[in-house]
Amino acid sequence: MTALDTLKAAFEASLTPSPTVLSVGLAIVLLIPILLHFIFSATTPYTTLPSVLLVGPSGAGKTALLTLFERGPLYHPDTGSASEKPTVPTPVAKTHTSQAPSTVELAVSTDPPSSSYTTDLDAAGATAKKFLLVDTPGHPKLRAHALAHLQPSTTTKTPHSKTNLKALLFLTDAAALADPDSRALSDTAEYLYDILLTLQRRFHQRSGSRAPASVPVLVAANKADLFTALPAALVKANLEGELGRIRKARSKGLLDSGGGGEEGEEGDGWLGAYGSERFGFREMMEFDVEVEVLGGNVLGEGPGAEKWWKWIGERV
Ligand code: GDP
Repeated sequence: MTALDTLKAAFEASLTPSPTVLSVGLAIVLLIPILLHFIFSATTPYTTLPSVLLVGPSGAGKTALLTLFERGPLYHPDTGSASEKPTVPTPVAKTHTSQAPSTVELAVSTDPPSSSYTTDLDAAGATAKKFLLVDTPGHPKLRAHALAHLQPSTTTKTPHSKTNLKALLFLTDAAALADPDSRALSDTAEYLYDILLTLQRRFHQRSGSRAPASVPVLVAANKADLFTALPAALVKANLEGELGRIRKARSKGLLDSGGGGEEGEEGDGWLGAYGSERFGFREMMEFDVEVEVLGGNVLGEGPGAEKWWKWIGERV
């Protein structure tokens, strides 16, 4: 038998629908796409856009801010007169109480660098940087959702594990914080404590090249249009004081329950520099967490939300 005959026989055999040929062919057809999927999904670092997480207690103005950045103010400074300017525009989006985070895709101009979110509403093409603004529920029972976003992807297998988190905007109601009779200050500080502690733990979980990137935090002191609102410097001082009190109370709780003996520099519940008397946001730099406090407002007359937009633009 010549080589040609052998080849011919093999070709004929491959065309004969024998069970062996059929099963080998079927296996190839089914396995190749699965193999390709695993190869490409393992080598692509991420395909998601940079994201910014919007957190804060209920009523701080998260939904209003999301709507403002997505659709712009109802009054446009170039087209209307001051008398037409509504002081409290009708909210376009409903306040966010569902468990699923609501996300909008936004773009910030990079060339020239962003000057305003109103001009960036039309930003597009190569000079615009796209990012996702992710709103989270502020209700105490649903805050675990926001905290889950901050878990480093190397330690979690949550649906958020592939997010490309660049920054965190913590919105507060600066007018509510001024009221000594309300629980606003302690409630806001409790939430902020949990957020910062999660970022501090994220820093400790860093190892090797797959380390989670640090996430800078902007405490946005909202509702500066209200004359009762605290200025940013006071919001900062009051929050730092309350965070220090919470830290003390929680470490006492640990000691009372016999868990305090294990506390070290990487201790579980202690926020900031270990053993320091008063808490200050600058302590968070030890864990590569930058915290800044800036005042502004979503509605009404005041400094507006431009500084917050600029802060975001510099970090996405
Ligand atoms: P969320 O629970 O954090 O989503 O808060 P919302 O966006 O639902 O806002 C809570 C309330 O605060 C609404 O009645 C808003 O109209 C109001 N609000 C939001 N931002 C401002 C602001 O800058 N100034 C004033 N005066 N009210 C605001």
